[in-house]
Amino acid sequence: MKVIDHILQAKKTLFSFEILPPLRGHDIKDIFSTLDPLMEFNPPFIDVTYHREEFIYVEKDNGLLQRKKISRRPGTVGICAAIMNKYGVDAVPHLICGGFNKQMTENALIDLNFLGIDNVLVLRGDPLKSESNFFPKKDGHQYAVDLVKQIKDLNRGKYLDKTFIEQQEFPLFDFCIGVAGYPEKHLEAPNIESDLFFLKKKVENGADYIVTQMFFDNKKYFSFVKKCRSEGISIPIIPGIKPISSKKQLNSLPSRFYLNIPNELVKEIEKAKDKKIVSDIGIDWAIHQSKELKDSGIEIIHYYTMDKPKAITKIVQAVY
Ligand code: FAD
Repeated sequence: MKVIDHILQAKKTLFSFEILPPLRGHDIKDIFSTLDPLMEFNPPFIDVTYHREEFIYVEKDNGLLQRKKISRRPGTVGICAAIMNKYGVDAVPHLICGGFNKQMTENALIDLNFLGIDNVLVLRGDPLKSESNFFPKKDGHQYAVDLVKQIKDLNRGKYLDKTFIEQQEFPLFDFCIGVAGYPEKHLEAPNIESDLFFLKKKVENGADYIVTQMFFDNKKYFSFVKKCRSEGISIPIIPGIKPISSKKQLNSLPSRFYLNIPNELVKEIEKAKDKKIVSDIGIDWAIHQSKELKDSGIEIIHYYTMDKPKAITKIVQAVY
């Protein structure tokens, strides 16, 4: 079933969450053991993030450094298929521009279609750690809006190679497309207006729903939704919530994701004497945020696990 249909048919607030593929060398059982406790709460869908290749430098015998491409977390599509097969729950692979050219993207979409996966969350991806700006692969997409268009074209039967034009009358594809939105603006955007302008382009090109970047102050979300609506963006906007789990995140999250952490939460965490207390504070804060969002009638709340699914289990037990 498509994410948009889960949203439209929701009779009460539902929850979804995203998981990361395990690090190379780890077993799919690690994923299942983190998912098992959450399945009793019937999540309508589970997102699986996509992790682009990275470049590292390794020292050779002669002392010179060699640039090496590594992929730490492969397996997004395989995990989606395994989740659907084991739990009968819809899986949403994240699909990014970075590292893909258009042909690779089309091939990936054909694979998804063969596996019965008809949901994708479409993202540009971040710049490589070794680069200060985002550079697309040759013949790839510069922005998520262009990737949305390619998928929408395929939904209309338009393949890259015009030889397959006869498929236009009988398109095989019907992907439901999610895109990202940023209540506190994307870090590269000069201002929120500009960011909303391009968010609207993603919607005009065919996005069905938006998932927000994490935020720690619900007012930011409500104000973002209001701004979107006044710009004519009318599709569902799923709020994204993450429980803080370490003191380090007080600095790393704002610098990595361009967001604010309310002072009240910062002070509480700074006072905490150990890791367990920090984690409990983060969970309580996320529970409070979730309850307020739920009370406002939101159809789905999305949780960022960032490899710490136990915290999400506690939140879900308290809220749903
Ligand atoms: P875009 O929508 O392309 O926007 C990027 C920037 O360019 C913005 O500042 C925007 O305002 C601007 N812009 C957009 N279009 C144009 C245009 N036509 N001309 C000029 N400027 C433009 N990353 C991963 O690598 N893997 C994941 O699995 C992943 N999952 C994510 C899930 C969610 C819910 C979110 C919120 C983010 C996720 N990310 C993931 C991170 C995401 O890839 C980064 O935030 C990335 O920097 C931007 O992606 P985007 O799709 O929002 O980009």
